[in-house]
Amino acid sequence: MFPEKNIDPFDAAHLWHPYTSATAPLPAYKVREARGCRIILEDGTELIEGMSSWWCAIHGYNHPVLNAAVESQLGKMSHVMFGGLTHGPAIELGKLLLGILPEQLTRIFYADSGSVAVEVAMKMAVQYHYALGRPERTDFVTIRSGYHGDTWNAMSVCDPVTGMHSLFGSALPVRYFVPSPSSRFYGEWDPSDIAPLEKVIEERRDTLAALILEPVVQGAGGMRFYHPEYLRQAARLCRENGILLIFDEIATGFGRTGKLFAWEHAGVVPDIMCIGKSLTGGYMTLSAVLTTDSVAHAVSENPPYAFMHGPTFMANPLACAVARASVELLLSKDWQSEVKAIEAQMREELAPAASLPQVEEVRVLGAIGVIQTREPVDMARLQRRFIEEGIWVRPFGKLVYIMPPYIICPEDLSHLTSSLVKIVSEI
Ligand SMILES: *Cc1c(COP(=O)(O)O)cnc(C)c1O
Repeated sequence: MFPEKNIDPFDAAHLWHPYTSATAPLPAYKVREARGCRIILEDGTELIEGMSSWWCAIHGYNHPVLNAAVESQLGKMSHVMFGGLTHGPAIELGKLLLGILPEQLTRIFYADSGSVAVEVAMKMAVQYHYALGRPERTDFVTIRSGYHGDTWNAMSVCDPVTGMHSLFGSALPVRYFVPSPSSRFYGEWDPSDIAPLEKVIEERRDTLAALILEPVVQGAGGMRFYHPEYLRQAARLCRENGILLIFDEIATGFGRTGKLFAWEHAGVVPDIMCIGKSLTGGYMTLSAVLTTDSVAHAVSENPPYAFMHGPTFMANPLACAVARASVELLLSKDWQSEVKAIEAQMREELAPAASLPQVEEVRVLGAIGVIQTREPVDMARLQRRFIEEGIWVRPFGKLVYIMPPYIICPEDLSHLTSSLVKIVSEI
């Protein structure tokens, strides 16, 4: 059974966990501390971190540089409102971001989570068309198997089946879904992949505000890696029809796919980009929406002469300070080699799983390794087995996947991959 000490009765009785029953939850293990690539449970059990806390903790936990950034900012101010005030952390982070993102993206809107960034991006697209005298352009098109967050409009562009929100279907605004590209990242480009998007855009161009998608890597909606040519074709269609292109780089940003941002795989610059998750190195919630001068001018120089959004904790100084430290830390080291080494090792060590009868496919891109099973996995059993083997992995559906912190050492990564293959082979 579970190590009793790691299960808290108050938690089990009162605290709701993500996508979990309140009355019959799977066990939630109590963490005492986390350092480097290790999560340490209440009873001292050490787990090798395979999830980076959902894409975020790219430098590992309890990092001295990031701790120092928080502490130093804490002594000055942890928060002030961003309405009518500004501060160094927001400005310095902004300068840093503009230096690593496409030069066409010149305007930054800070928000408080990935989902909110997606809401902001969608509102911005609608307000852009409104400003240009096209108030009927309020709809969105996206590709299937996507995931964009849990708030209302973010949810409406998640995959209607795998995007975790199917029960809300009839309550959501109408969105247009086209099949996710079948051309794989490492495969041949099949030109017919773009046809469904072409058709929807042709038929709906007068009511579409934007196309929104995750470039190259689709995360929580299916962990799929698709061909970058799709993005070039999609960008062309958007341009030709005056439809904005939104890239959700909340999961793919900051090196995870082998490029600093996934747009670089295709060389396509969107009109609006969302970043979040590993922006603060996993320390705090913060996201940002970046856009072009052209969108910013249209929105700002037509009624209502302002972009109509403003979160209470916009540009939180503590979050901006740690984000700046995290991005600087990333840029200061050879992260490309770290990610390449993780990629090569995962490719080699996860490969044996591909020949298991219960496995559909094994795929690796950057520091993301996926074992897709033929049947949905038994979460409760697998979670217990992972803990017994000393690793932290959280599968969903048919996807058992890892995206470790970039600082993981080869021995820990080997432990992670070999335990993963072993546990999947027991299914
Ligand atoms: C996680 C995620 C979001 C939502 O971010 P939250 O911070 O959980 O609101 C949006 N888009 C993508 C691609 C994500 O991976």
